Amino acid sequence: MQKLHYSDGNTVQVTKAQLINEPKNMRPHVVILGAGASVAAFPQGDASGKKLPTMDNLIEVVGLRPILDDSAVDYHNQNFEELYSQLYEKEPNSTLIRTIENTIRNYFEGLQLPEEPTLYDHLMLSLRPKDIVATFNWDPFLHDVWERHRYTVPVPEVHLHGNVRIACCIEHQVQGENGMYCPHCDEKMTPSRLLYPVAIKNYADLFINKQWEMIESCLRSAFTLTIFGYGAPETDKEAFELMTKAWKGKSPRELETMEIIDTKEKQYLMERWKPFIPTFHCMHSKDFYKSGIAHFPRRSCEGLYVPTVLGKFAEPFLTPKEMNFKELMSWLEPLIEAERLMAKEA
Ligand SMILES: [Zn+2]
Repeated sequence: MQKLHYSDGNTVQVTKAQLINEPKNMRPHVVILGAGASVAAFPQGDASGKKLPTMDNLIEVVGLRPILDDSAVDYHNQNFEELYSQLYEKEPNSTLIRTIENTIRNYFEGLQLPEEPTLYDHLMLSLRPKDIVATFNWDPFLHDVWERHRYTVPVPEVHLHGNVRIACCIEHQVQGENGMYCPHCDEKMTPSRLLYPVAIKNYADLFINKQWEMIESCLRSAFTLTIFGYGAPETDKEAFELMTKAWKGKSPRELETMEIIDTKEKQYLMERWKPFIPTFHCMHSKDFYKSGIAHFPRRSCEGLYVPTVLGKFAEPFLTPKEMNFKELMSWLEPLIEAERLMAKEA
């Protein structure tokens, strides 16, 4: 890899001023979000207090309980995705299946982003356009945060997988925001499917395939990877294998460091993600604000490169958690200005 120097006399440390003023042209930081990320980002729920469910409490939170009770379905101690699969295999076109799907869609579509800065805002603003955030979550928040900032701040790419904000025209292989029309056939695009029966969750769907191609290519070219609140459940076995293959597609990743942000204990996580981390170069934090991204906002790859490749200490400067949007934007300005200069010089 090309050696990226910093213009200093100090041999042991790269200061925060240097990190801020001298962004480097580095490969992407890829961030993958699971349900745990949305739960951590919206601890008080959406703008009106509607809670973010996980698979464990989905039935309760989105209001599926009376629907399942009415149909005499036993859902106790059952994984929801497996339960859905069983019902689907029995009768894929039943009214019950339709009602379950619509109830979930309506719940997630109705979620509204709080007005004040959220953890997702901090995540989005702490990454650069070269970076990528992908989510497996149904909720609209990653998309909505991206929409909130994309005209004023250079933000990362966002990839949504089975999300209430996206739709597609399968025939023309076009995707766009839910509610948009296909530019080829002028038909209203079909909302992205949220639930897949586990048995046929083979990502054979054209649309899903296309999204996977994107994720795979991002992972292959990633400088580093952060997995945030994604449990890689058994029902996602295929996704997990695809990701592992892509992450190791170009190299065995023996030198790379990745990071897991998850409230679970480190030992459990290391075991779970072993296929991903051949040499255990993995950082773990339970809290986003203690992660590498939050320690080196918009310089996350530099913050990792300095100690691991240059062997120097990188002085952290935290993403400010308590600022309002106006303060946050002024705080970001020098970082963004330095990026503009770098792009000009390139
Ligand atoms: Zn079309």
